[in-house]
Amino acid sequence: MMRTLGLLGGMSWESTVPYYRIINRTVNEHLGGLHSAEILLYSVDFQRIEELQMAGRWSEAAEILGSAARRLETAGADLLVLCTNTMHKVAEEIEAKTNIPLLHIADATGEEIRHGGLSSVGLLGTRFTMEETFYRKRLEDRFGLHVVIPDELERALVHRVIYEELCRGQTLEESRREYRKVLHRLAALGAEGIILGCTEISLLVGPEDSPVPLFDTTEIHARRAAELALETGSGSSETA
Ligand code: GLU
Repeated sequence: MMRTLGLLGGMSWESTVPYYRIINRTVNEHLGGLHSAEILLYSVDFQRIEELQMAGRWSEAAEILGSAARRLETAGADLLVLCTNTMHKVAEEIEAKTNIPLLHIADATGEEIRHGGLSSVGLLGTRFTMEETFYRKRLEDRFGLHVVIPDELERALVHRVIYEELCRGQTLEESRREYRKVLHRLAALGAEGIILGCTEISLLVGPEDSPVPLFDTTEIHARRAAELALETGSGSSETA
């Protein structure tokens, strides 16, 4: 018996599509045949969430996601997967609304980086993810990583491209070039690897654009969720 995954998605829906593909593919790699994952998806209207983010009304966004999480639990989900890095700012509030665990995206990512033996990593994401402590500090405290972020102008660019292009399904060559420059500069600053800490970024750049290994949070989070769904024993210690 597999665990049922409860996906909180739609942030943006463009990045929820790869989650669905990666989770199903991972389960199939393990079980073969026509096996696929047991998934419940609650996909929100991202416009509302984005407005609350920009207005700094995080507790209202947490309310919306908390009630969606409760509905997933009621429908039978065993494990929550919040398909965005940014909204992990309110991960604890969401978890407090349910009785099922949440697989924290920074924990899955930190584990993967630790396995790779890196100590200094760059971080790309929304302004919130790059500048605030909820994400960076978790990587520093739990995984002993040194986190390097882009400078002010680069952060503005990375953030703008996420909301104005990637979340709207646009991948522009000019933005890919700009992101490439940022990846190279972070490596020059000493980053041994770079976290794509926003679930849309891998829609724009990949390993071929970077001089150092990339840690794609969408891929890592989705794969880990699938592995935990398959571990039906009592060993899922990685949930926060
Ligand atoms: N998907 C993005 C992330 O991983 C940004 C969208 C959002 O603000 O949730 O942070």
